[in-house]
Amino acid sequence: MNTQLILIDKEAPSAAEIQAAAQIIRAGGLVAFPTETVYGLGGNALDPTAAAKIYAAKGRPSDNPLIAHIADREELEELVSEIPAAAEKLMDLYWPGPMTLVFPKTDKVPYGTTGGLETVAVRMPSHPVARALIRAAGVPIAAPSANLSGRPSPTKAEHVFEDMDGRIEMILDGGEVGIGLESTIIDVTGEVPSLLRPGFISEEMLKDVLGQVEVDAASVGPMDPEAQPKAPGMKYRHYAPKADMTIIRGDQNQVIKTICDKAERALGRGKKVGIVCTEESLPVYEERLQSAMTSAKAGEDDVLHLAVIGSRKDPSTIAHNLFDVLRSFDGMQVDRIYSESFEGGQLGDAIMNRLKKAAGYHIVDV
Ligand code: AMP
Ligand code: MG
Repeated sequence: MNTQLILIDKEAPSAAEIQAAAQIIRAGGLVAFPTETVYGLGGNALDPTAAAKIYAAKGRPSDNPLIAHIADREELEELVSEIPAAAEKLMDLYWPGPMTLVFPKTDKVPYGTTGGLETVAVRMPSHPVARALIRAAGVPIAAPSANLSGRPSPTKAEHVFEDMDGRIEMILDGGEVGIGLESTIIDVTGEVPSLLRPGFISEEMLKDVLGQVEVDAASVGPMDPEAQPKAPGMKYRHYAPKADMTIIRGDQNQVIKTICDKAERALGRGKKVGIVCTEESLPVYEERLQSAMTSAKAGEDDVLHLAVIGSRKDPSTIAHNLFDVLRSFDGMQVDRIYSESFEGGQLGDAIMNRLKKAAGYHIVDV
């Protein structure tokens, strides 16, 4: 299949391009498009054949449910059989935006989209391209992140192209996304709303609105392989760069020292090393690892890849760059990755949820 890559103005998407993309969706094909969280891989959410194509393009197990994206509140009616009071409150505040809610589904939503579940996850994105596409298509759009299953989610059209070229009909290139992490997912079908995946909208923000929120264990720690997850997708490996990755957590000076020690040893063994650092810590690594780098070089360049993820002064930069940094390690073909830890603040849980999954929950406390 020949994948069309179409540039589109994020602020004012042209009607002709949107119509062409919408036509593909209506005909049962797939279009990747930007949202405010990450790039989505869109297909008609009401068409099980389109859902099957999404799973095939991603190489994703088909029991991992898809999120249906809508542009207007009225579209919710045909998808969900009940709108709990908690959902009304959250939608009033955070839709359109980076929040997904899980509802009981109607018969109109095929099991092919929900991975066989009786519930359906729905989100109303705020990105102008996403909204224009959903409206023009005239159907809700199922859109998981537009990456190959297991790889870091795409935050630029180039990432989508890397993974999806030849697999889907079209990519709408609207530039870099804003937030860079997937939506917060809340299950509102139970007595107490349950946070399934942390995102830009934090547990604190949800508690402010709802009073009580349960945090699903799978959103913070590794899933017990024997346990029955709320959503099948929670048990799968995610975001993983090809190299082994370790997170070092604790007092910041101690973290940097430990990473330098580990990096020196790996360089000494002839390994290529990647380090996830910040604008603040970069100069420290450059200085401390100077000699290890020169002696390890021995004719080869790029034995050390210092990847600046953002600034601790503005954690939104860390969220924004996280997946791009994880992908960059694959491009550099590093053997070992060491990462600082980014707990705390509104985005801390969301960032650490992705980072820990990428590291296969391999964390060293110092
Ligand atoms: P994404 O990869 O961003 O498309 O997110 C899909 C994820 O949303 C799945 O892996 C699930 O964790 C979650 N999800 C989707 N539908 C449901 C559902 N009906 N119930 C619970 N979680 C869901
Ligand atoms: Mg995904």
